[in-house]
Amino acid sequence: MSLKIAGPADLHLHSDCSDGTEPPAEVVRRAHEAGLSTIALTDHDTVAGWDEAARASRAAGLVLLPGAEVSAKHRGMSVHVLAYLFDPDHTALSRTMARVRDDRVGRAERITRNLARDLPVTWDDVLAQCADDATIGRPHIADALIARGIVASREEAFAGPLHPASPYYVSHAAPTPVEVVEEVGRAGGVSIIAHPAGRGALPDGEIRSLIDAGLGGFELGHRENTPAGTARLQRYVDEHDLIVTGSSDYHGAGKPNRLGENTTDPAMVERIIRAATGSDPVV
Ligand code: AMP
Ligand code: ZN
Ligand code: FE
Ligand code: FE
Repeated sequence: MSLKIAGPADLHLHSDCSDGTEPPAEVVRRAHEAGLSTIALTDHDTVAGWDEAARASRAAGLVLLPGAEVSAKHRGMSVHVLAYLFDPDHTALSRTMARVRDDRVGRAERITRNLARDLPVTWDDVLAQCADDATIGRPHIADALIARGIVASREEAFAGPLHPASPYYVSHAAPTPVEVVEEVGRAGGVSIIAHPAGRGALPDGEIRSLIDAGLGGFELGHRENTPAGTARLQRYVDEHDLIVTGSSDYHGAGKPNRLGENTTDPAMVERIIRAATGSDPVV
């Protein structure tokens, strides 16, 4: 499909279908209010918010790219793959995301049990912070700790008891980034590595493997990217004519990230739409 995009685009937003704090329709409403004309809903490992976001986007006159932020792991390092306009009924990709969602439940329960050795927090506290069928994550545990008055913010929880170096931490199973990029491609979608130049850089060999696997590009506009890391990846972009995006990674009240704080060039949005065959943007 081909579509003319005008105006600011923010292609990385979370709702309470994962660890954002607002329902999809509210995220869309706020995006419209913030002056955005094109958005993507990219909840972690789920398409649960697509229908609600589509209805709200049509009503507000926004262009919506349905998407997801798929959890992956390279040698123990967490890598997030933004996937756009894939077929939501593609069997392999749906199963991959369902496996990660399921594993996240047991993992969150284990972290909570570990915390409960020293802190007054229960699994029911955590479940109370997580919308039905939402992809659960450490932010929901953080919210339970806040509700109990143990920490003041998600940030404080992530710097302390939920930090990967904390004795309470447990990781979850995840496919490799190459597996995700291949599956997203087979599902007709476009993959962009999220916040690729923050803490923990992918080695050159892995970047080349991702490009060989059909990677679309990199989210170079993101508050967690460093200038040096961004410059390094820009060289791959130039050499391989990759797509570059910029986005907020909005999580509602769960993170300080503001809607539209980074945006994507309309020409890049149009490239994503032209390259994708799995589903159409909502207009
Ligand atoms: P998990 O998926 O359970 O490993 O948790 C990672 C999620 O927590 C990511 O989606 C981040 O958006 C969120 N997150 C990471 N660090 C922070 C922080 N300091 N404050 C708020 N949210 C965070
Ligand atoms: Zn998140
Ligand atoms: Fe992420
Ligand atoms: Fe995100």
